[in-house]
Amino acid sequence: MEVIVIGGGAAGMSAASKIKRENPDYNVTVFEKSNFVSYAECGMPYYLAGYFDDFTRLLHYPITEFTEKRKIRVFINTKIDRIDAVNKRVFSGTVAYSYDKLVITTGASPKIPDVLKDTYSLRSMNEAINIKKKLENSHDVTLIGAGVLGTELFSLLSERYNVRLISKHEFILPYLDEDIGNILKEIVLANNKNIEFNSVPVEVTKNNNKFTVKTEYGTHDADIVISSTGIIPDVSLAEEAGLKTVNGLISTDDYLHTSDYDIFAGGDTAAVKNIITGERQHFPLAQIANKMGRTIGININRDTRKFPGALGTTIINVFGWQVGYTGINERTAAKYNINAEKILVHGKSRSAYLNGSDVYIKIIINKNTEKIIGAQIIDKDNGAWRLNTLAAAITSGISVSDMFYADLGYEPEYGPVWDPIIIASSLGIDKLDAK
Ligand SMILES: Cc1cc2nc3c(=O)[nH]c(=O)nc-3n(C[C@H](O)[C@H](O)[C@H](O)COP(=O)(O)OP(=O)(O)OC[C@H]3O[C@@H](n4cnc5c(N)ncnc54)[C@H](O)[C@@H]3O)c2cc1C
Repeated sequence: MEVIVIGGGAAGMSAASKIKRENPDYNVTVFEKSNFVSYAECGMPYYLAGYFDDFTRLLHYPITEFTEKRKIRVFINTKIDRIDAVNKRVFSGTVAYSYDKLVITTGASPKIPDVLKDTYSLRSMNEAINIKKKLENSHDVTLIGAGVLGTELFSLLSERYNVRLISKHEFILPYLDEDIGNILKEIVLANNKNIEFNSVPVEVTKNNNKFTVKTEYGTHDADIVISSTGIIPDVSLAEEAGLKTVNGLISTDDYLHTSDYDIFAGGDTAAVKNIITGERQHFPLAQIANKMGRTIGININRDTRKFPGALGTTIINVFGWQVGYTGINERTAAKYNINAEKILVHGKSRSAYLNGSDVYIKIIINKNTEKIIGAQIIDKDNGAWRLNTLAAAITSGISVSDMFYADLGYEPEYGPVWDPIIIASSLGIDKLDAK
């Protein structure tokens, strides 16, 4: 059996490794257009902020781990230009490679508006290395975009540079609901006030390696401008091969087959079912990509494991605060006509005598089913684990009452006996009982 994987990132290398582990006799070949496979994109903001300076620390494995140990053929610097699905071949230039099964894991690329075309963007290792070089001689850094990546860069780069953030929206992390979004805004402004809200660059010019950025609020200079203005899934190969797409993503079934049964897709290029709404949407996140890759590996020759979908659980470091969300927010609940109730709790991260940090936790409940359908959190100490507890609960479809009665462990250092999760759940029960 000849298996070809296009793209050697998180999803592609997870798929290739699992296929080979399950089927040592299969020939598995990965084509990667860059000179790196399997590296930690999520660690790149820390590399840029100087937490470490050797980019090779971002490599999960040396390439020999795949070629020699796992017996996967890996072609780096090899871009696949075309898929001929009828004759089951892929082309790099004029060279054709035949497959029995094909896996498309081409990821996504930065979406850069024309006005920002001369600015830097951060998606690949090579882009990270370029930015790092430029930062060596930089003092003033301008970041465009206050989504997940822009906010994390703002927080981390502010430790070393004079950083300005330009946000198209009135908030940081616009996915958050307004109530908790306002709390985050205060926290961020207390750490770095250099933010233009409701602002977009109208002109960016580059002269002698210096940038001038013009917005409707004025003009400023910067040594470097980094745009985090969103990403576009790389679906062109799939589209040209006639595969079905949905919402700009490669459409897959529950076993991650595309509309061609012998072609699978996963990671940032593929549509993922939202567990709450059922909509096929974009969840460009590392664990989802890895799990889709592994699921493709299991299903490569028989439909064994369904990929159940995802919640889009996102957690980021904002000036030392763990800030995140999972499931749907109030706007999405309204869009889907879900009869939703929200609970926002301000608690403490530890027992009072141990001086924990403030915790802001919000849960959203479907009043008809009593299930928790979303959560948002700002918490310095254990925010990631509180959010992940809620994500696991929401994935299992448990009710707010089940969440309250879930037997969570307690120790004063790690949370108060009435942990904010438990308080939010109990207030949720009160609201439901009062209906
Ligand atoms: C700076 C940054 C920070 C992040 N932080 C987090 C985080 O903290 N938490 C989190 O959950 N997620 C994070 N992410 C997102 C996460 O890294 C991605 O969701 C994940 O890497 C997607 O994996 P993938 O395999 O789909 O795509 P990728 O890892 O991007 O891999 C796709 C690969 O395909 C290759 N390719 C594309 N087209 C072709 C072609 N035609 N031929 C050959 N090769 C091709 C590309 O070169 C690329 O190497 C971050 C992303 C970035 C950029």
